[in-house]
Amino acid sequence: MEKRIFNFSAGPAILPEEVLLDAQKDFFSYKSSGMSIMEMSHRGKIFDGIIKEADADLRKLLNIGENYSILFLQGGATLQFSMVPLNLMPPKNKADYIVTGAWAEKAVKEAKRVGTVNIAGTTKSDLYTRIPKQSELKLDPDASYVHFTSNNTIFGTQWRSEPEVGNVPLVCDASSDFLHKSIDVNKYGLIYAGAQKNIGPSGVVVIVVRKDLLERSSDTLHTYMNYKVHAENETMYNTPNTFGIYIAGLVFKWLLNMGGLDVMYKRNLEKANVLYDYMDESGDYYKGTVAKEDRSLMNVCLRLPNEQLEEKIIKEASAKGFSGIKGHRSVGGLRVSIYNAFPKKGVEALIEFMKDFKKNN
Ligand SMILES: *Cc1c(COP(=O)(O)O)cnc(C)c1O
Repeated sequence: MEKRIFNFSAGPAILPEEVLLDAQKDFFSYKSSGMSIMEMSHRGKIFDGIIKEADADLRKLLNIGENYSILFLQGGATLQFSMVPLNLMPPKNKADYIVTGAWAEKAVKEAKRVGTVNIAGTTKSDLYTRIPKQSELKLDPDASYVHFTSNNTIFGTQWRSEPEVGNVPLVCDASSDFLHKSIDVNKYGLIYAGAQKNIGPSGVVVIVVRKDLLERSSDTLHTYMNYKVHAENETMYNTPNTFGIYIAGLVFKWLLNMGGLDVMYKRNLEKANVLYDYMDESGDYYKGTVAKEDRSLMNVCLRLPNEQLEEKIIKEASAKGFSGIKGHRSVGGLRVSIYNAFPKKGVEALIEFMKDFKKNN
């Protein structure tokens, strides 16, 4: 078999090897059907089974009740920046947004086209190096919903627990940490997640929406933009990304086989902690860029003593098979993404490399 590298890409990101091999086995002819998944009708019996299983497995993983619909749409998390306000803001036409990074800013930009956006909290003045405290939030009890970003992919911060928002529906962009641990879905009105960070290939966005909120979707919306239409048609209003949904379904099974999200979370904690612990022991050579209590388990952001060393380590790492550790262009430094599928042995190998680099530089 071909050798694989250690892939620290922020997204599209690493997938479980078991899933890739499983898909490879069935790629040419899916379970003796004589066709690839990509070549068969989305309304046929085989794909119908695949999407129903993906739905059922996701419900099992997160303990999602029948009062929620699951949709597998297209347009990425980016289209959700528009669909969320278009569907959920009326009739009050005002919503609260907690802004903790670049993705939240983009969500605000689209929401402002629909109605009034109240910035209920932001850490922009701290360059998004922390998550706001509950006491800092200025929530409007009459808002249509409160939107937050559970993990800030670019800045490397993550909410330890959801903001408390009373009876106002909570909406979450969970694109870069969906399924990294179990959450109480009942606390949420809607969760959306682009698949390409933690759950599958690009081109699919998973939406978990409480059914009573679907009544807010107006008939005057463009049809594809309407959650209620997608829910009534069980994702089949138009041709969905069949192959992407199939792969996401295999990832759900991989998580279930592992023992579920509590096991996954334990692994994620161990993996992130060895790296953060090493950084903290390195005497400011590898310096974390965000508040310790808000550090992300998925995207570890750090800086070296100067930019020359950062350029050098990225180059040397790449030559050694550690790919994708360059920080986002807006932040600089290094960003090491260690999503669910990333193996702990890869983190340990990276730390050994970082030790050598520090000794030699
Ligand atoms: C990557 C990302 C997005 C954008 O996802 P697309 O699929 O490119 O639209 C939005 N929010 C967060 C938190 C992300 O990490």
